[in-house]
Amino acid sequence: MNTIHQTNPIQTTASGIGMGIRLVILGSGESGIGAALLAKQKGYEVFVSDAGAIKPNYKTELENNGIDFEELGHTEALILNAKEIVKSPGIPEKNPLVKIIREIGIPVISEIELAYRFKGDSKIIAITGSNGKSTTTSLIYHICVTAGLDAALVGNIGFSFARQIAEAPKDWYIAEISSFQLDDIKLFRPNVSILLNITEDHLDRYEYKFENYINSKFRIIQNQTMEDAFIYCADDLVIEKKLRTLTIHTNPLPFSMKQELKKGGYIKGDQMMLRIQEERVSMSIYDFALKGKHNNYNTMAAGIAAATIGIRKEKIREAVNNFHSLEHRMEFVAMVRGVEFVNDSKATNVNSTWYALESMNKPTILVLGGTDKGNDYTLIAELMKEKVKAIVCMGVDNKKIIDAFKGLVPVIVETDSAKKAVDASFAIAEKGDVVLLSPACASFDLFKNYEDRGTQFKEAVKEL
Ligand code: ADP
Repeated sequence: MNTIHQTNPIQTTASGIGMGIRLVILGSGESGIGAALLAKQKGYEVFVSDAGAIKPNYKTELENNGIDFEELGHTEALILNAKEIVKSPGIPEKNPLVKIIREIGIPVISEIELAYRFKGDSKIIAITGSNGKSTTTSLIYHICVTAGLDAALVGNIGFSFARQIAEAPKDWYIAEISSFQLDDIKLFRPNVSILLNITEDHLDRYEYKFENYINSKFRIIQNQTMEDAFIYCADDLVIEKKLRTLTIHTNPLPFSMKQELKKGGYIKGDQMMLRIQEERVSMSIYDFALKGKHNNYNTMAAGIAAATIGIRKEKIREAVNNFHSLEHRMEFVAMVRGVEFVNDSKATNVNSTWYALESMNKPTILVLGGTDKGNDYTLIAELMKEKVKAIVCMGVDNKKIIDAFKGLVPVIVETDSAKKAVDASFAIAEKGDVVLLSPACASFDLFKNYEDRGTQFKEAVKEL
């Protein structure tokens, strides 16, 4: 039985655009609650509906703001009378209720679209891609703050975009944007958009068609104009191929490690060069706080974004040199008797693990495994042969990994907990080796989520 919570109808001063229009929000995660708070503030008649339980702290917030909601089920009569629906990014199209909504034709938007409506004169830097979003978003935010801009980091880390606008509007929003958020935009138009890379991911949400996922990512430039900028990786064959089929209405600023570009950015030898309008910036990649090839791409994208919005090169240099990497992403854990431990638990697909391995310059013991999402391990076979002396499997079912790498990697052991994986790795490791947790898989077989996996790994290392 679902529970419906209705407050006494309170008179809102329906000012602005909402004007009592019924807006239903499906899903009560951070983006759903943010959307509810913003919509209520703007005078909409808001109703939040969640098929599962709403977190207690979010429920309190809804109650305190006089927002009606239901949990543990959807009541169609209270939803299908909406003039507009905000669908949380986690809810797939195949959801039966979403199907009905689409059939009836009620307009559906995402939370970032709602937020965009109320951003005023503020500007947006939006970052998307299959990997590196959080890292790049955080780095750009750090550069903006170093340069003294009034900026907020929104999206996956921190507040949802909508909540930030409702509670603490800023001049600049640095927004991490997933493909699911882009699926239901109408007018959302970032001043600066960044597309880091596209590799196969989330295909279950895109009818198993890679093309659909690619199109979704490219929505980030759909409303851009010649006043805006589009920063993208020119070394990414998927992006390059797609761009050849499109006429784009924005200013392209590519970045590359393979070619010297006339505008955008590139890395030649150990120097990163940025060329934005008249601005020329050069920096040594050895000074970057974030290490590894993938992070050189992320740093380059962030540097171009910063230069594009007019941040001085001294500030960019200072910020990229003193940035601290994020937890669970190539995070240095400890050095124990000459063995280095690195936590890259956020690597939930093969591509991320590829970049993690690529950046290793010591003999590596790789902790790999978890819930397989249809992984193609041949992608990392070469790097495995070159860099990995042992694989420590950490998962319920490790057969696929063993089949993929037996004969290629001299030692493969099986474990089923973070503690056992750390102990086994340490037993194999010699002074000068690195133990890398970069599982290439989701974590749900043994852990709550990737954060839990990374935290348990770090705790086990501390116990050594
Ligand atoms: P996202 O927010 O897109 O999931 P994160 O910044 O959290 O990305 O990084 C996720 C994982 O992807 C990390 O384990 C990291 O090693 C790897 N990674 C980071 N940047 C890139 C990149 N540009 N290309 C490929 N892999 C990357």
